[in-house]
Amino acid sequence: MHRLQALFGGTFDPVHYGHLKPVEILANQIGLQCVTIMPNNVPPHRPQPDASSTQRKHMLELAIADKPLFRLDERELRRDSPSYTAQTLQEWRVEQGPETPLAFIIGQDSLLTFPSWHQYHTILENSHLIVCRRPGYPLTMREEQHQQWLEQHLTYQSEDLHSLPAGKIYLAETPWFDISATLIRQRLQQGLPCDEMLPTAVLRYIQQQGLYQKSDN
Ligand code: ATP
Repeated sequence: MHRLQALFGGTFDPVHYGHLKPVEILANQIGLQCVTIMPNNVPPHRPQPDASSTQRKHMLELAIADKPLFRLDERELRRDSPSYTAQTLQEWRVEQGPETPLAFIIGQDSLLTFPSWHQYHTILENSHLIVCRRPGYPLTMREEQHQQWLEQHLTYQSEDLHSLPAGKIYLAETPWFDISATLIRQRLQQGLPCDEMLPTAVLRYIQQQGLYQKSDN
């Protein structure tokens, strides 16, 4: 039997506990051995990150240094073109073969915008979707057709994620972490503490690099 592989994409500008903790808890809940973090390069529908690709990668390396659950995949960072999840998952499927169960992990906010992602339908052809809870976002889709799409693919059985190669959406019962990279950037610009929100090594690196500081001009 092939082991479930999970991918966790994002901008990670910077990586924080709202990324790491739900996924660690999820891994325990459903029996995930390894989660591949894949920072993206130029997110197609978002403004450019404040930190460079190298800085975001370095912050991730610091964040997962003592966490064997996670590994880092730099393929999207190395691309010059936009990072499209659909394309990445297609490549990953080819690499892993047709039978390996694959899952893409997202937060609740990303589920709401998911139908606007490039070729979102093809994502479920290649992988499952695992949704972690995030405070402040509803668990129902804004449009009826997208709600139907969600319900068609929904499973309440985490075993499905292991026994099927792709196609299911699983709403994980992970705790809420009210943290976002936006909030951290804003707090740092205002000189407010963020110690509880991200690993100390990452915070130190941010300070060393002078990242997310208030600009004087
Ligand atoms: P920003 O505030 O800059 O938009 P972010 O904190 O949402 O960033 P991203 O790198 O955009 O972080 O998110 C990567 C993935 O992690 C997304 O799927 C997002 O939904 C999820 N995520 C981020 N923060 C949380 C959180 N606090 N709880 C659950 N999921 C989260």
